[in-house]
Order: sequence, then structure tokens, then C-alpha cells
Amino acid sequence: MAAATKAVHIRLPPLPTIKDVIRLYKLRALKELSQNFLMEPRMIDKIVRAAGHIDNNVVCEVGPGPGGITRSIIRQAPRKVILIEKDPRFIPSLELIADACRDKVDVDIITGDILKTDIAHFVPKDVKVDWNDPPPALNLIGNLPFSVSTILMIRWLEKISKQEGPWAFGRTRMTLTFQKEVAERMAARILDKQRCRLSVMCQNWCSVKYKFDIPGSAFLPKPDVDVGVVTLTPLKQPIIRLPFKLVEKVVRHIFSMRQKYSIRGAQTLFPEEVRQEMADRMYKLAEIDPVTRPFQIVNTEFARLCEAYNEIIKEYPEFEHYDYRAPKANKELVEE
Ligand code: SAM
Repeated sequence: MAAATKAVHIRLPPLPTIKDVIRLYKLRALKELSQNFLMEPRMIDKIVRAAGHIDNNVVCEVGPGPGGITRSIIRQAPRKVILIEKDPRFIPSLELIADACRDKVDVDIITGDILKTDIAHFVPKDVKVDWNDPPPALNLIGNLPFSVSTILMIRWLEKISKQEGPWAFGRTRMTLTFQKEVAERMAARILDKQRCRLSVMCQNWCSVKYKFDIPGSAFLPKPDVDVGVVTLTPLKQPIIRLPFKLVEKVVRHIFSMRQKYSIRGAQTLFPEEVRQEMADRMYKLAEIDPVTRPFQIVNTEFARLCEAYNEIIKEYPEFEHYDYRAPKANKELVEE
């Protein structure tokens, strides 16, 4: 039997509490940067625990703010911590933490926008493992700003699909917070009332686990909504093995009329004149009943629909760039 590995912990020297840090540095929360600080140490530790064993791992934290989660991460004895924070007002409080653990953990503090930062640049190369191996010793953790969380998730899924950025090192795991409703959508299975484009996309490239809720009252200031914590582990093989952009387009169109027969949304993938004929063909090729509603379609069926669409655009490449919201600009596609 394998010997149980003893958990390693780092004891930080006494630091001012997060509440004191906020008061000391006059860190008034800015609404425009979706700043809601997590004040309950038990909740903070629970998020970090949801990431699993991170000792000796490289951990990248998005939006550390005053550093509550950062402290909890460091106590788990990671090898290196990469902090990406857009608001420079937080840098002194993060430097305070970096100084307190200087001999034990390497901390990189980056002032920048997560949407424009190349995380991979800060990750030691030796972290890399093969895609089919268990996930690398690299973790992304963040109490994400609501204002960027969904955009960031979609961008990260595209990077996962291309095995780029933090996913050039293997199937890097993520432990992230979202507005509760968004978290529920990400994890929603078929027939669930929350099932939407985001559910299909997240579950196509990742194993998604809804871990637990955090009540709004755990934050300062209290947000209008509760928060959900989600872990995502990239799959070895996506269910729909086609380029991200194609999958995103087909799924978006099909969900554009959520309560209607799914073929209605699929029709909008094609110019008006051929819409019905092409959508019928797509559903026939995919062997999907056209009256199925979008939230009743499982990802393996979405795979068949995407493959059928791919077959059609191979035959009619002019439909690939058709945009039904700009019918005039697209008119020439069918007139050529
Ligand atoms: N991690 C802290 C906590 O849990 O108390 C703060 C969380 S607060 C919800 C979101 C943090 O993300 C803020 O510190 C905010 O300044 C930062 N932020 C907002 N937009 C960002 C962006 N585009 N890139 C990086 N950080 C961002």
C-alpha cells in the first residue's frame, strides 16, 4: 500500500488582517473592476482546498486583490505563485505577502489585465507534461471579476482546444468563482433549465464540477448575487473534435431560439433562400430529430450536428462566413 503523503504547510509571519489591509491602504472597492473582497477565512480556505493538492505546484491567481486567497494558497506550500492583478492599488499589500514568504515561495506580481496577459510566459518550462498524462503541477485559481469571467472562460476554452497558453503544459486545472447562475449554466446537463451554449462549450473541452456556493454575505461589499465555485479539468479528447470557432458558431445558432425546435436556430446558419433545405440536410446527416429542443441535445449529438455542418460547408464554402444578422452583406453569397 502506498504511504500517505504528509500535507506540507507554510506558516506565514503575523500579517495585518485583510480587513486591516483594506483600511490601511484605503482600498475602496471599485464597482467598474467588479471588486468584492472575500472576507471569511473559512470560505477562502475552502476555495483553495477545492483545487486539490497544490503543494509544490505553480499556482496562478487571477485578480488577487488584497490577497486573502493568496495567503491561503501560500500556506499550502506551492513552488511558485503568479499573481495577475489589474488594479495597481493592491500591489503594496501583495508585496507584503511576497516579502513574508520570500525564503519559501517564489511570488511573481504582475500588474496587468488577465485578458491581455500571457500566463505561460511566467511558468517554469519543467512543469510541462504530455496532454494525455494526469494534469501538470500547474493550477489556475481565481475569485474572478464578474465583469470578465464569461469572456475569460470562452477565451480559455479556445486556448484549451488549441493546447496553448497555460494548456501548452498539459491539462492544467482551474478552480474559479462565477456568479452562481453562470456557474450553474457551466455545469448544466441536458434537460436542465440552465442548459445553454456555455454548458455545451465548457463540457465539450472540460470535466466541469460545481463544488459549492458562497453566499453574497461572505464578501465586502456584498454583491447582488451569490457565487458558485467550479473546477474544470480539460478532457483528453473533446467530444466534438472540430475547430473551436466552428463548434461555437453551430452551438450558438442552435441555442439562439432556446424554447423552439432546435432546427429553427440551425436554419439561421444558412442564407434565407436555402435555409430550410440546408438545415433539413444537416439534421438528416446528423440523424437528429428536427423537433428536438436545444436543451434536449447531448454533446455527442451536437458532435454529429457540427460534423454535418462541416460537411455542408465543405461542399458550399461560401456559407462558412454567412452571418444572418447582416443579410444584405451576405446577399451575394447566394447570388454568386
Ligand atoms: N481575490 C480577491 C478576493 O477574493 O477577495 C479579490 C476578488 S475581486 C471579485 C476581483 C479582483 O480582480 C479585483 O482585485 C480586481 O481588481 C481584479 N480584476 C478585475 N478585472 C481584472 C482583469 N481584467 N485582470 C486582472 N484582474 C482584474
